[in-house]
Amino acid sequence: MPDKIPATLIPGDGIGPEIVESVVEILDSLGAPFEWDRQLAGLAAVGDSGDPLPLATLDSIRRTGLALKGPLTTPVGGGFKSINVTLRKEFELYANLRPARTLIPGGRFEAIDIVLVRENLEGFYAAMEHYMPLGHDPRAIAMSTGFNTRTECRRIVEYAFDYAVKNGRKKVTIVHKANILKALTGLFLEEGRKVAKEYEGRVEMNDRIVDACAMQLVLDPWQYDVIVTTNLFGDILSDLIAGLVGGLGMAPGANIGTDAAIFEAVHGSAPDIAGKGVANPLAMLLSTGLMLQHVGRADLADRLTAGIDRMLAAGLRTRDLGGTAGTRDLTDALLQQLR
Ligand code: NAD
Repeated sequence: MPDKIPATLIPGDGIGPEIVESVVEILDSLGAPFEWDRQLAGLAAVGDSGDPLPLATLDSIRRTGLALKGPLTTPVGGGFKSINVTLRKEFELYANLRPARTLIPGGRFEAIDIVLVRENLEGFYAAMEHYMPLGHDPRAIAMSTGFNTRTECRRIVEYAFDYAVKNGRKKVTIVHKANILKALTGLFLEEGRKVAKEYEGRVEMNDRIVDACAMQLVLDPWQYDVIVTTNLFGDILSDLIAGLVGGLGMAPGANIGTDAAIFEAVHGSAPDIAGKGVANPLAMLLSTGLMLQHVGRADLADRLTAGIDRMLAAGLRTRDLGGTAGTRDLTDALLQQLR
């Protein structure tokens, strides 16, 4: 058995601390190898030190190269910049992995099993924005510039194909809007096709225009296996896919770079239900499943998902899934399944 693995733990804002506590308790009972270094970020850190991303937190992630992060609140309009985006840039977390699998039988969509790989550093998320005047209005025109580099396009598509090979996936779909954004997403498609050639015979490839893909994800999602796409399209499609499997409370995510990886749920800090003990910790738990796989403990990740499957099959549902169970009820039920 390997020794303890140092990992940074950021409880986060809103429902973050509630779901992170639940997750840590469950990981302990599973015998997960993580040795946590607790650090602050987001509003919680502003309250503590005035800095939404303290140096101690950055140093910790630099040291461990591995973090589990609760959701962080981003002030709308003014205030500080998104810490999530800052972390992605700081540690060059170029790949955002968002797998979605049907866990609850009897929903609108059965047997969904789609992995979305989103480019995490470029595209319209560069958010280089400004206004231009017209007549008397200084903000009459809003401009936004996106960029994609050939290197990054290649790296993210390679990541998706490599993921497919390592995880026994059959097909990668490259999603773009190269008919209209001919340069920005045309370059993505161009590099994607080159990468696909290198995997010929091992992984099938096709491509889809993003609007058609959105429609097909609703009409016939089973045709998709692994999807790789640019930043903004990935942001939107991954929430759509989360909706197919029961909503944001069921959607895990991983931000992967060469030197560091940060695992987090797709959902935000849910201020509307914070402190009420009703948050669903499953997305966060499933993210720790990805984290266990990342450190080579697929055995523990499998035990965790099997426990979650049994618990859901027994009928436990939190409020977001139409049930009445709270965070504590779910934690206790899962601890019992894992014993
Ligand atoms: P949100 O995901 O926090 O909430 C959307 C809806 O889903 C709410 O009704 C909420 O109650 C519900 N919900 C979300 N997670 C849930 C869970 N685990 N269990 C039960 N219900 C859940 O999105 P929002 O309201 O748009 O954003 C709130 C804040 O979170 C904002 O400041 C936003 O910037 C931030 N945010 C952070 C991250 C992140 O840290 N990765 C991601 C998205 C949003």
